[in-house]
Amino acid sequence: MTKPSLHGRYMGAAAAVREHDASCATCSRDRRCAAWRRLFDVLERLQDAYLTHQRSTRGTS
Ligand SMILES: [Zn+2]
Repeated sequence: MTKPSLHGRYMGAAAAVREHDASCATCSRDRRCAAWRRLFDVLERLQDAYLTHQRSTRGTS
């Protein structure tokens, strides 16, 4: 198995947040549980890294 790409991990984190949304009984649109926050924290960091990577490879500002 190869190591997942940054994009793959970003997509995986986004899917984990969506799956949690669909299955968690505690979360609502306005109020999220601690588990959701942890997942979202990971997603935000991967999103930042992914967008930074895209900018640096495309050379646009
Ligand atoms: Zn939740």
